[in-house]
Amino acid sequence: MNVADSEVVASILSPYYSITDSLREADLILLNTCSVRDNAEQRIRKRLQELVSLKKKNKSLLIGLLGCMAERIKEQLLEEEKSLDFIAGPDAYRTLPELIEKASLGIVSSNVHLSEEETYGDIDPVRYASNGVSAFISIMRGCNNFCSYCVVPYTRGRERSRDPKTILSEAQNLFEKGFREITLLGQNVNSYCWKKTDRNVDFADLTEQIALISPLLRVRYATSHPKDISDKLLLVMAKYPNVCHYIHLPVQSGSNTMLKKMNRVYTREYYLERIRKIKEILPDCAISTDVIAGFCGETEQDHQDTLDLMREAGYEYAFMFKYSVREGTKAAEKFADDVPEELKIKRLEEIITLQQQLSLESNKRDIGKTSTVLVEGVSKRSDQHLFGRNSQNKVCVFPKKHYKIGDYAEVTILRCTAGTLIGEAVI
Ligand code: SAH
Ligand code: SF4
Repeated sequence: MNVADSEVVASILSPYYSITDSLREADLILLNTCSVRDNAEQRIRKRLQELVSLKKKNKSLLIGLLGCMAERIKEQLLEEEKSLDFIAGPDAYRTLPELIEKASLGIVSSNVHLSEEETYGDIDPVRYASNGVSAFISIMRGCNNFCSYCVVPYTRGRERSRDPKTILSEAQNLFEKGFREITLLGQNVNSYCWKKTDRNVDFADLTEQIALISPLLRVRYATSHPKDISDKLLLVMAKYPNVCHYIHLPVQSGSNTMLKKMNRVYTREYYLERIRKIKEILPDCAISTDVIAGFCGETEQDHQDTLDLMREAGYEYAFMFKYSVREGTKAAEKFADDVPEELKIKRLEEIITLQQQLSLESNKRDIGKTSTVLVEGVSKRSDQHLFGRNSQNKVCVFPKKHYKIGDYAEVTILRCTAGTLIGEAVI
């Protein structure tokens, strides 16, 4: 999400600045930040310390901090971090030229105003970090779910959807420029809804319209909240082969007690029913998840319930975290962070070990199968090999032959590790 936001910022600032790879040459450094876990914030604090020396060497260098950390800590951040010249929250990027102008006059300033309408829908992002094949399109902003542990609804504001016309034209333009894969982004894409026409456009409708641009344009999306992943969407995914068979469906915990405390508004049984439905409509669909270890009051049985659910779901991949208290959230205010650190680490390790087994088992099941891979680049290990991903979002490496970046290759899988499929292109 932050990559997509940084591309919007690059577009807003393109009349004034060009992008450089060299920190030493920069007149302006912007740090786009995440506040979801404390360690993300600590990394930024460390980075700011490192940048102090650059400021000593280049007196006109300006440093700005963008995104969730600006929104969460607000002006206090300017007090704490003397290297900062300005801060801007996630809905304030259009005012960056003014903030920079003030900063260049020596006036430290901030804009952390949250909007109910801003979607940056009319801004054509500068794809500076892209491989020319895959791009992100932000389709909505904010979140209304208020999971009790999560800071996102406070730092990114209320949920709002972007005009589908602007999304479609962005996707069409990307396809014409040679891009072959787009990922539709939002905190909870399944609640995308555009209501300003006679007929509502929901996420399944939007996905279908994008799939129709060209069979050569792959469509992915993230993230899905289990509470509203609809059968209608699953049927669109089954109908269009270019909508990838991959769903990121964060579960967070396998225990109903924890899910209730987390305010996830579904039960373990409901979640597993959704998984069964996905497998019924899309038998080859890969599923990944997010898991939090050691949430408030988590017992050994709750933890075992999570491991059990992971086995039953047979996830292809997972993002796994230790619970990190976030000030201002309901969990921080109401529940004690009472799972000792060592136990959190132990449980997280068990979760990671299990996921590695599940990923390896899933990859082993692919040996002998052939899948369509969109080539994204040259393998880091050998310039004679290319890599890309199949519809299930698994990374595949294979000998280059005549293929080039942006091509589709039919790859038969010969070997695997837990993280990679290794194969050979059929033709
Ligand atoms: N909107 C997405 C995820 C946003 S944050 C969703 O609802 O699924 C990405 C992930 O960070 C979450 O899914 C959760 O697993 C994790 N996370 C959020 N807050 C956290 C916290 N306080 N401590 C640890 N992990 C957290
Ligand atoms: Fe956070 Fe929950 Fe919203 Fe995801 S759905 S961003 S976890 S509040």
